[in-house]
Amino acid sequence: MASPKLSVIIPVHNESANIAPLCERLLPVLNRITPDWEVVFVDDGSRDDTLDLIRDVSRTEPRIGAVSFSRNFGKEIAIAAGLDHARGDAVVIMDADLQHPPEMIEAFVERWREGFLMVYGQRTDRSDETRAKRGFAQAFYKLFARFGEIPLPEGAGDFRLIDRKGIEVLKTLGERARFSKGLYAWIGFKATGVPFVVEERRFGTTQWSFRKLFRFAFDGIAAFSTVPLRIWTYIGFLISFLAIASALFFTVRTLLFGTDLPGFPSLIVSVMFFSGIQLMSLGIVGEYVGRIFAEVKRRPLYVVAERIGGAAEVSDSLVPDNYRLRRA
Ligand code: UDP
Ligand code: MG
Repeated sequence: MASPKLSVIIPVHNESANIAPLCERLLPVLNRITPDWEVVFVDDGSRDDTLDLIRDVSRTEPRIGAVSFSRNFGKEIAIAAGLDHARGDAVVIMDADLQHPPEMIEAFVERWREGFLMVYGQRTDRSDETRAKRGFAQAFYKLFARFGEIPLPEGAGDFRLIDRKGIEVLKTLGERARFSKGLYAWIGFKATGVPFVVEERRFGTTQWSFRKLFRFAFDGIAAFSTVPLRIWTYIGFLISFLAIASALFFTVRTLLFGTDLPGFPSLIVSVMFFSGIQLMSLGIVGEYVGRIFAEVKRRPLYVVAERIGGAAEVSDSLVPDNYRLRRA
């Protein structure tokens, strides 16, 4: 059998200074693994000459290709497009700024050959980031671990290798607010991590402003948890309970000591009670909105890792074709 093909997906947004140093380091690594590799750059609406540079290297090295977006769609969508266009039996996703050392790919492929369908790079420290960003990331992962529907492996990012089987499943997940890290975990399969140290960004600056990160974090929580919707039920319940408790308190106090301001306790109690009821009903609406949300995402119900015996005759079509309309 021919050696399996390896694809490398690299989302790029205004990375012109990094293209040449990246290729210089990446290509020898790929050649050591297999001659049958391809690189798919996804140009995410760069406004500099990133795409021209890729076109140049592609002329001398036809195994390097690119998909170019009409505008900036964001890294998550760029990865999705990369997955759609990669033809490898295994696909590696990495950043263009050399923060993900290309040499790690050899270790990834080794684990893949051992039978892991997903091999993720596990960053050992975050000392390259500002303290604020680090604190924010920590808070996010704590929240996600507590309320998210699936656990995320610690320190795992987009730098990873995914087997063709996983790619085919990821391609059927058509949600628009994409939180790839969650999706990688959601599809399951036999996975393992390989520790690595994040290097300094070679050229340029990070494209993730705080605002973008916050938006991304919210997408992550919202896509994998309905807790923000449901929490109001509990808060409403609590407030109504407090209203009833204070009604009792005021009644007893009035019976024992008389009243100093007539009408005040009943006013407070009824305001509290009804705001509690309102929050509760909002929460119940939230329960249903949460379910509608889960349904409209149209994730497949389950993911098959392997079929044995008679079941193997069943085709692999996971979802009806019309569910595949989604991605722009
Ligand atoms: N990127 C992209 N679209 C964007 C922002 C970033 O394709 O809108 C790419 C970028 O070119 C790089 C990768 O995503 O290859 C990671 O971006 P960056 O280094 O800015 O993020 P950080 O390493 O700070 O998380
Ligand atoms: Mg970076």
